[in-house]
Amino acid sequence: MTNQSFKPRNAGSLFLVSAPSGAGKSSLVNALLAKIPGIALSISTTTRAPRPGEVNGREYHFTTVEEFLAARERGEFLESAEVHGNFYGTSKKWIEDTMAKGGDVLLEIDWQGARQVREHFPEAVSIFILPPSIQALEDRLHKRGQDSEQTITRRLLGAGAEMAHASEFDFVIINSVFENALDEFCAIVTASRLRFDKQAARCRDIFIQLGIPN
Ligand code: 5GP
Repeated sequence: MTNQSFKPRNAGSLFLVSAPSGAGKSSLVNALLAKIPGIALSISTTTRAPRPGEVNGREYHFTTVEEFLAARERGEFLESAEVHGNFYGTSKKWIEDTMAKGGDVLLEIDWQGARQVREHFPEAVSIFILPPSIQALEDRLHKRGQDSEQTITRRLLGAGAEMAHASEFDFVIINSVFENALDEFCAIVTASRLRFDKQAARCRDIFIQLGIPN
């Protein structure tokens, strides 16, 4: 096998992470990003009102329904969905630019969004995070103290609908003990990065030097 046979590959992986509200998804994602460098987190656009402490451009790009619908009409979203009565969307340009540079990208999106992204990127690695019980979910939503009772009830009702799609995902993490769940999350990301095609792209010179066919 000659060097010329080395096909161009993309070193970057696309991770899709979904969970019902209160399963601890954002905490796990933030801890993962602190532990494993080199993963870019997509910042979604939403019509939901900011929660206390949330900053425009950091957790989300907050926008109006009119602006969101206009951007969607212009084809600016890779995927979009209505979740708990609000619109959410992922910037197509940001994903394309980041993936083109060969970087890893992580999307925190719901099952509808994950389904749409898989159509564009069938190789995306999808991970579903489950709570250990419904009670744990309810306790976490109350403890978070960021949502009204009405919102919590709506999110609990939506949790069942979200979890009904867990089987569409490649991996499942049960977030019972946070540190264990984080180790499992890191293991999935690390293993995905070690897939032959990703390694061949990332360590191209080593593969060529060793004459590894691909
Ligand atoms: P929250 O309002 O609690 O931040 O998020 C509510 C739900 O919307 C979560 O399931 C979250 O994963 C989902 N979500 C956040 N951003 C996006 C997005 O860009 N697209 C889709 N489809 N869902 C999103």
